[in-house]
Amino acid sequence: MKFQAIKGVRDILPPESALWNRVEQTAREVFRTFGFSEIRIPDAEHTELFTRSVGEGTDIVSKEMFSFQDHEYPDLDRFRGTLIFHQPTIEDRMQFDLYKAQVSGFVNELSKHVSKRELPSTPESLRAITEIPTLLAQLENMREQYRETASEQTRVRFELYAGHVRDRLRAAQLGDNLSLRPEGTASVVRAYIEHGMHVLPGNVKLYYMGPMFRRERPQRGRYRQFYQIGAEVLGTSDAPGIDAEVIGMLMTLFEQLKLKGAVLSINSIGDSKCRPVYLEKLRAALVKIRDQPEPQMGHDSLSRIETNPLRVLDSKLESEQAIIEKLPRIGDHLCADCRGHYDEVKRQLTLRGIAYQENWRLVRGLDYYMRTTFEITAPGLGSQNAVCGGGRYDGLVELLGGPAATKGIGFAIGTDRLVLSLQEAGEGTVQEGLDVYLAWFGAAAQAAAIGLAKRLREAGFVVELPAIEIKFGKSLGLADRLKARHAVILGDDELAAKVVTVKRLADGSQKKLAEPELLAYLSAETGKG
Ligand code: AMP
Repeated sequence: MKFQAIKGVRDILPPESALWNRVEQTAREVFRTFGFSEIRIPDAEHTELFTRSVGEGTDIVSKEMFSFQDHEYPDLDRFRGTLIFHQPTIEDRMQFDLYKAQVSGFVNELSKHVSKRELPSTPESLRAITEIPTLLAQLENMREQYRETASEQTRVRFELYAGHVRDRLRAAQLGDNLSLRPEGTASVVRAYIEHGMHVLPGNVKLYYMGPMFRRERPQRGRYRQFYQIGAEVLGTSDAPGIDAEVIGMLMTLFEQLKLKGAVLSINSIGDSKCRPVYLEKLRAALVKIRDQPEPQMGHDSLSRIETNPLRVLDSKLESEQAIIEKLPRIGDHLCADCRGHYDEVKRQLTLRGIAYQENWRLVRGLDYYMRTTFEITAPGLGSQNAVCGGGRYDGLVELLGGPAATKGIGFAIGTDRLVLSLQEAGEGTVQEGLDVYLAWFGAAAQAAAIGLAKRLREAGFVVELPAIEIKFGKSLGLADRLKARHAVILGDDELAAKVVTVKRLADGSQKKLAEPELLAYLSAETGKG
């Protein structure tokens, strides 16, 4: 059997991984200069955290999450398995008593864990706890009755009720509903609330990087395990200057990475005052189109009219473009506060010399956004050309149980796409080659080479030290194939003269140097040391 990585996930191999490191390192450095600190969030959370924040009607929550039931009490689970498997019989009293005692024991355990909040109190578990004792008592009665009457009818009812017990047992939930994180904001906000970070002075500015998981149809630039570098600002202020500062930080990062052709699009999608009014107008317009004899709309958009009408604006279907162009626009329906906020965001961007395009259709796929939304596209990516998305989410902290009136804004960069775009632009190579291939010949030379390798590495050079002795010709051939810049040769002659031979592999020129000169020479050649 040959194993392969599962669908939609991939390995990131050298030398590409060196570019990933450069991207992540640059992000850390740029974010630090803007006063952001790193937060490391878990890869899995309670599913409900995402359902509540990202939203039930979104693609992410409705079809893309990798969810599973945790297995907190494997013994209890196994015990339940045996109870479901062994059915009580109406004739055998001892067997029935044992069954009844065991099922009651299970229900007691379940109830204990649920009341201590160690297991979720789902409606199914609560039903098991309240209904099974009654069902057991009824079974007991039927058994007594059957002993006297041997009625076939009673036996049938007994089987039926035993089936009810089995169903209740099966439906009880013996672990939490968990999901691999499809995005990072929900976890950051959860952590902010859980650790009472609102008491910290000023705005809390956090960044994270790591894998996210969505069950998408894989294609270039779209994976099931992909990576994001994200940042969030949480606090009491929603000043438009914060929006512009966050966007400015992004643009600084892209500039430092030499990403060319990045285009920033912005929009405002209103707040809880003006957006519902707009949504009703939008929905009404869409319903009108839907109810025409031959609506030119695809299945996805039609189903979104009820669940998430804003997402219709996201559609890239050719046939829907003309329809969408005629739909009501949020920009014409913003309330005075949102309009003022949006105008000020644009002024603040201009103050920072940041160019932007306005795109009234930029609504983003997650429910928690309000007011400012933005997206950055980059060249070389085909249809999956968004490298970063973000926006303001002022109500989210409160929605997840945190202090009311907490504001928030953030973004997530798709690292896979950023790396792809850099590679396409020829910014993808990161020099990580060998400075020195240290060829040694003979046991005494090996001992000296081990010491020399240590000192060269301490000075910052990249050194390959062969683990076994390799013949001269083969050794230099390998140095060549490993693309080492220099071979340093250490044999009996060199040992006796207290020097090494250093050979520049590009032109074959060589010289004999003592260790201090070697260090100086390599420094001059590589710019390190
Ligand atoms: P979102 O969290 O959906 O706002 O996405 C933010 C950014 O993450 C996008 O602009 C993409 O660059 C990236 N992204 C989202 N989904 C995927 C995916 N399945 N594969 C690769 N990158 C993705």
